[in-house]
Amino acid sequence: MITRTPIAVHREAEPRAPAAWQRQLQEVIRDPLVLCQRLGLDPALLPGASAGHALFPVRVPEAYLARIRHADPDDPLLRQVLPLAAEQEAVGGFVDDPLVEREHTPRPGLIHKYAGRVLLIASPTCAINCRYCFRRHFPYAEHAPSMREWDASLDYLREDASIREVILSGGDPLASPDRRLAELVARLETIPHLQRLRIHTRLPVVIPDRVDAALLDWLGGTRLQKVMVLHINHAQEIDTAVVDACRRLAAAGVTLLNQSVLLRGVNDQVDTLAELSERLFAAGVLPYYLHVLDPVSGAAHFDVDDDSARALVASLRQRLPGFLMPRLVRELPGEASKTPL
Ligand SMILES: *Cc1c(COP(=O)(O)O)cnc(C)c1O
Ligand code: SF4
Repeated sequence: MITRTPIAVHREAEPRAPAAWQRQLQEVIRDPLVLCQRLGLDPALLPGASAGHALFPVRVPEAYLARIRHADPDDPLLRQVLPLAAEQEAVGGFVDDPLVEREHTPRPGLIHKYAGRVLLIASPTCAINCRYCFRRHFPYAEHAPSMREWDASLDYLREDASIREVILSGGDPLASPDRRLAELVARLETIPHLQRLRIHTRLPVVIPDRVDAALLDWLGGTRLQKVMVLHINHAQEIDTAVVDACRRLAAAGVTLLNQSVLLRGVNDQVDTLAELSERLFAAGVLPYYLHVLDPVSGAAHFDVDDDSARALVASLRQRLPGFLMPRLVRELPGEASKTPL
């Protein structure tokens, strides 16, 4: 890392042109009308889309749009990003903060619920807004956490030697500029008891150009062991650009895992889940978790009941080698880990 320092200083001195991924992030589709027109969708979907957009804005990168079939309202990728009128319905048991995360934040932006690992909110925003997201009502400030706020989190980490792993989460941590992430990781590295850096992100999937030389530079250079947990729900999300991004990450020494959310109308078929595991492994990614939906208001139409979820996973087990089986889990407030179903 010593050899990288002069280069970093030199880069700091130059005015920066935005990276390709940053331009794509600036140009994401944020208008339900544009989304419907670009995909040739029935205008009858627009009132519901606009109403949902007012609750949680539409956000779709072009690179993701390119994988959605034209004029097909049932496309499994479209369903993850297009608001439906059903989001307006209040459904019993579906609430704004299903995980009660506000109670586990010892420092701003730091969530410590599980032994040995903490979650750091490294960026409040995402490149894509997934309609089922449990954070759709989480009160993030629109600005990224400041270095000063990170100081308090770093002090907390330094004082607790039982913490071995830091998980960068969000929002999407990779929505932050590489300069900030490199600085954060450089500071994490100085804490001797930290062994692992884990990154929970959807960015390499929705904007594969995010995995560029600048990212691989700080990520590949850290002394910490590196784990990236991607978020892919359907095999159709894995195009050649995503496979190439995974290859670059693996070459930089990153262990690649995937978590999915079980979503009605997206991936609640055994064939779909089997194909997802196969395509993940072909890209060098192991299935990790299959989460049941968190009961967040506005997402009830994605819910798959527990019995159907268990039956699906039981048939999946008949089809796949054990190492391609994701663990079916639920997150319950107050539990010390994810809860297997
Ligand atoms: C899910 C989660 C983790 C990570 O859990 P693993 O089982 O290690 O993947 C850590 N902290 C919080 C707050 C979480 O929600
Ligand atoms: S990328 Fe993850 S955190 Fe962001 S909206 Fe989608 S599910 Fe939520």
